[in-house]
Amino acid sequence: MKFLPFFYDIRDRRCLIVGGGTIGARKAAMLREAGARVTLVAATLCDELAALAEKGVIDYQARNFEDTDIEGHLLIVAATDDEQVNLRIATLAKGRDIPVNVADNAGQGTVILPSVIDRSPVQIAVTTGGASPMLARMIKTRLESCIPSTYGRLASLVESYREQVKGKFAKLTARRKFWEAILSGPIAEQVLSGRDDEAEALLQQAINDADADPHFKGEVYLVGAGPGDPDLLSFRALRLMQQADVVVYDRLVSKPILELVRRDAERIYAGKERSKHAIPQENINQLLADLAKQDKRVLRLKGGDPFIFGRGGEEIETLIEEGVPFQVVPGITAAAGCASYSGIPLTHRDYAQACIFVTGHLKDDTIDLNWDMLAHQQQTIVFYMGLQGVKVICEQLIKHGLTSKTAAALITKGTTPDQRVLIGDLDTLPDLVKNNDVKPPTLIIVGDVVKLHEKLRWFKPGSDIEAQAIDTYTSGKIGPI
Ligand code: SAH
Repeated sequence: MKFLPFFYDIRDRRCLIVGGGTIGARKAAMLREAGARVTLVAATLCDELAALAEKGVIDYQARNFEDTDIEGHLLIVAATDDEQVNLRIATLAKGRDIPVNVADNAGQGTVILPSVIDRSPVQIAVTTGGASPMLARMIKTRLESCIPSTYGRLASLVESYREQVKGKFAKLTARRKFWEAILSGPIAEQVLSGRDDEAEALLQQAINDADADPHFKGEVYLVGAGPGDPDLLSFRALRLMQQADVVVYDRLVSKPILELVRRDAERIYAGKERSKHAIPQENINQLLADLAKQDKRVLRLKGGDPFIFGRGGEEIETLIEEGVPFQVVPGITAAAGCASYSGIPLTHRDYAQACIFVTGHLKDDTIDLNWDMLAHQQQTIVFYMGLQGVKVICEQLIKHGLTSKTAAALITKGTTPDQRVLIGDLDTLPDLVKNNDVKPPTLIIVGDVVKLHEKLRWFKPGSDIEAQAIDTYTSGKIGPI
């Protein structure tokens, strides 16, 4: 081990930074976060440091470094852009056994200021020993994404009950078992999802009832998996996906997303294709409750957002009736995902001040919608499940006042490598569907904002049909903006 990692309490202690550039500013921010009193020596300052000096939160000495500056400091940081000066500072400090950090040259100093993931009181420090600060930052970013920001609160909760638990369990092994169960179970989950009061009550109850073998109930995580691209999952979604014992998933959940679920989790397909429900909705609701009652952590994974045409509300109603704990994690809904990935802003100052999401689900050859409310200028309409009813949708919108030349888009498998975008208008849309073998999942966007697609499209997964759609666009059916 080349360096000894340790965490140092420097609150109210004097630290010196030499150098007034952006690196000096970064170091000053770090030392100040740890509560140090910072003296900064430099002939000139970058804007950020100048602001700190003006506020008086650092002691700024406007001059070049002098050898006597190192006196009386607990830690010294050499951060000038002159290697010789940095070397001189390091040599002086080492001669007096004062810890010294040399920015961008770890080998010259005796101390490294690492990249820190701060979930105080939990802190994780990363260094590559100066080999590659860039790599250290990349590692930090990866850790940031998998260590919930609420870990600090979890640690504080544990801290405040440590003594009580010690009193309850004399044996170390029993204590360890207790904390292990707490930290990997629903009580920790309550803290991580922001329900600290409930967590505390449960923890207190667990301590009171403890017979050295704590027993906890299962829980349901109702999680939105987004429209397809796994990069669009939230941190929380990913964390819950990786700790679930069983996953109940829909047809809309993409394969790459399913691959991120814990390998050994049991997988249950709940289906849902038009008129071909693999498991009827009532049975899904009951299944979730039953699995959780078997003490399982149940991941209910849904395409897009669970509360947007996802029947998430019905599922948690049953859980509430059955007294099963749950949490809901929002996902990026198809409208947001498809709009972004096809360069169609759903609102735009010049074209639409409102946007409305509706279901285009066809029932007995009609769609029961308030067409008067939908057919408005300056409003974008997004139809979910509208493919079967596309003809009815276009006819009704025209009948209720929109011109047949109103722009419209079909976006299939949005955000995935198979994304396909077809552009037309209310007149041409039904034929576009028919002639291009358009299949679900497809979203329909109607409104002037669709015309921005040509200018703003940026996601090009390389589909031939997309090129054809652009031809439709440029062939004059819709005038460019
Ligand atoms: N809860 C989901 C919607 C479920 S309804 C959400 O918030 O996105 C199913 C409909 O959503 C599909 O018929 C289709 O219209 C739309 N949809 C879902 N994912 C899609 C995708 N990747 N591309 C295009 N449309 C999608």
